[in-house]
Amino acid sequence: MTEVYQKLEKIVSEKSLSNNIYVRHAYSRNVDPLLQGVPDIVILPKDTKEISEIFKIANEEDINVIPRGGGDCEFGGSKPIGDGGIVLDMKRMNKILNLDEENLIVTVEAGISWGKLNEYLSQFGLYTGCMGPGSGMTASIGGGISHHSVGGGGCAKYGACTNQLVSLEVVLPTGEIIETGSQANKYSKFPFNRFGNGPDLAGLFCGDNGILGVKTKVSLQVFPRPPFADYKTFLLPRKSAEVSANILTEIRHKGIDVYDAMYIPDVVVSVASKLGCFPLWEKVKRKRGMFFYTIEANSERELEEKTKQLDDIILSKKTENLGPEISDGNYAKWHYVEQGHWQTYHNLWGMYPALEPLTAECFTPINTFPTILSDIDQWDMEHSEDIAKIFEITRTRPITGSGPILLIDGNNVELTCGFTSFGSFFNGERHEIIDEINLKLWKSILERVTKWGVQWYMMGEFMSRLMVEIGAYSTEFYNFMKNIKNTLDPKNILSRGKYNFK
Ligand SMILES: Cc1cc2nc3c(=O)[nH]c(=O)nc-3n(C[C@H](O)[C@H](O)[C@H](O)COP(=O)(O)OP(=O)(O)OC[C@H]3O[C@@H](n4cnc5c(N)ncnc54)[C@H](O)[C@@H]3O)c2cc1C
Repeated sequence: MTEVYQKLEKIVSEKSLSNNIYVRHAYSRNVDPLLQGVPDIVILPKDTKEISEIFKIANEEDINVIPRGGGDCEFGGSKPIGDGGIVLDMKRMNKILNLDEENLIVTVEAGISWGKLNEYLSQFGLYTGCMGPGSGMTASIGGGISHHSVGGGGCAKYGACTNQLVSLEVVLPTGEIIETGSQANKYSKFPFNRFGNGPDLAGLFCGDNGILGVKTKVSLQVFPRPPFADYKTFLLPRKSAEVSANILTEIRHKGIDVYDAMYIPDVVVSVASKLGCFPLWEKVKRKRGMFFYTIEANSERELEEKTKQLDDIILSKKTENLGPEISDGNYAKWHYVEQGHWQTYHNLWGMYPALEPLTAECFTPINTFPTILSDIDQWDMEHSEDIAKIFEITRTRPITGSGPILLIDGNNVELTCGFTSFGSFFNGERHEIIDEINLKLWKSILERVTKWGVQWYMMGEFMSRLMVEIGAYSTEFYNFMKNIKNTLDPKNILSRGKYNFK
């Protein structure tokens, strides 16, 4: 490794390269407490050329390279699988390269966060439409595009962030640099369209979970933020999952273009309210499921008309409007006006200190999610013996269920489900049994949900391998993917181990 380090020192500045044990361990995990892989070297590259040179060395030396944006992946996607390799932390590549105000396209380096980019765009009355993931304060544009991220606001109206993609600059694992879409034509002066000049090759890198290339430059469509908006929150009656699914379906069937629509299940409302995560619902007597929408318009009249249509649908279901102000419990207002879309998940995941999410995020049609939620309750009962073993140590029961469920594009929702559990280090002692049970249960719940035919979009280490291990991919699809990987990355340098590719 010393020889490799010496080669790297020749292309990367001293300050941006480290093999210090503390630094390596800081890059050995993502959000979950279970999956760990300690890299040999961490690099913060300064530009595309450096990344290209790093790949050339990695190919010569047969070393794994793992790109990392904000490091917020929930399935261990931006750390090595097993120990070793080079982590490329993209955070230094965070410049805004160009805002084409006339054509409404922004070009950025891939390491910038959704929060920083939107802060900049807001000065021009613009936003990215889909505001990326719920982790958008730290998560990067490159990570979002690599995951098809959705959930950080605006996803009922705009869908996943990859819908807004215009063009990409990518360093291929062999070190070659390509540009996609309009930029494939070397005479094009600025990015303006994703499709054409051949197949949609930007699409190849969307949702690739970092296995096909390193995104260095990203051009996205941006949108003028409409001047009028409304936001309402409703307390749901019993059977709140079914009621909210009916509301979402009616919204889509009537073609009302909501900006966001979210269902927060009963258990989340009751447990999180008790623990102080939802201070705005302290006064609400019945802690049942909640539903909210946010909507935008270009005139007051348009807003009134759309709001009326939405309220007619929602209030016909025996729901109760909580009132206009955040202090009345109007979560929707907090979500839209105070950037709650980037904060919602942080407090939920930290509900109990030391409790960590072992989650699953997938897309599924609206009309399937109530059945999946009941099956997850059933799964919890079937695994109560294992869960009880964790309770015996921690005296707090891991919680199974679903987080907020969001309307995305089409008739689909983003469903976050799984269980939150404790790490094995508890009360000053290591309890290896907790890791063993967590791993077993996490696999089991993901397999169960996969068999409902859902679509995973963030795959990381865990989900990409599990899909292969449980035989969920058709042989033809898996081979097709493997052939593409082999063509672009013949030495399997990039994100080695994902999808069990050899
Ligand atoms: C509190 C919280 C809330 C979250 N909410 C959501 C949500 O609402 N919706 C959602 O989709 N996800 C959510 N996530 C998961 C995750 O944050 C997002 O998917 C996010 O888009 C990941 O971005 P990142 O920059 O952190 O990527 P990382 O975790 O650093 O990387 C993600 C993947 O992309 C690859 N990658 C990163 N940068 C590049 C690049 N430049 N080129 C090529 N590959 C790259 C990595 O190798 C890895 O496979 C949440 C996570 C947390 C902690």
